Amino acid sequence: MRKVILLLLVCQFAVTVADATLYTTTQELKVRRGAGNKFDTYYKLKKSDTVEILENNGLWMKIIYREKEGYVQSKFLKEIPEDNSIPEEAPLKDIDPYEDLDPKTLAGLIGAILLMAGCRKLFENYRKKKQAAVAADAPVVKAKPSYWFVCKNCNQKLRTTAKPSSAYCLKAPDHDWISLGQAGDNNYHCRHCGTTVLTTKQPTEKDCFAGVLHTWTDLGPIGTKHFYCRDCGITVMTKEEPTNINCSHAEAHRWAEL
Ligand SMILES: [Zn+2]
Ligand SMILES: [Zn+2]
Ligand SMILES: [Zn+2]
Repeated sequence: MRKVILLLLVCQFAVTVADATLYTTTQELKVRRGAGNKFDTYYKLKKSDTVEILENNGLWMKIIYREKEGYVQSKFLKEIPEDNSIPEEAPLKDIDPYEDLDPKTLAGLIGAILLMAGCRKLFENYRKKKQAAVAADAPVVKAKPSYWFVCKNCNQKLRTTAKPSSAYCLKAPDHDWISLGQAGDNNYHCRHCGTTVLTTKQPTEKDCFAGVLHTWTDLGPIGTKHFYCRDCGITVMTKEEPTNINCSHAEAHRWAEL
């Protein structure tokens, strides 16, 4: 990874250097903090100072001079022709633009072109890999397991990923949360306190709100049918009618499908 970053930095540098356009100032002028005369003067340039162009907005150019960025009016800048540019008077048509280049320069030029092509490819690969990594990660990201908690004092039930705050219990100074276990797909019902809960396995027997041990009955896996007990008033969602044993209000649950 470090290597890739280093390579990218080198490439970035190579691209910047290749793109750098040098201009010279035609007179003394002000460098402003923004593209316009209303912006403050940041510093001044003397005639014939060499600056690097970062952006050309037409009337104004963003420049950098001794690592200080700023804006100047384009009309006071003149492009410095590159040394290896073709002399203007030479007829362009019949000339091979690389004729005058010695093999060393040519090799360097080809090298630079290859380096830039390589950089582009590297960037592209890097981008693709990153996208692929993001795509591969997406389905792997699973929701944190959550747990059912019930307060021993007020019998409030909550599903959270961590133990809830003890503040604001309605029946005692503090909630006293007891974990009923990891939230899951199976219905459990306590015949003493009437609590129903969907967990992965039967919850602990300890700390029933009714002051005894919970007596849990397995009412079956979660489904799309709603069943309502006319005696104890609980509603459960199951695949089929649950067992009728252990109703908290009568001899047996009297289920009605809703
Ligand atoms: Zn409470
Ligand atoms: Zn109970
Ligand atoms: Zn019942």
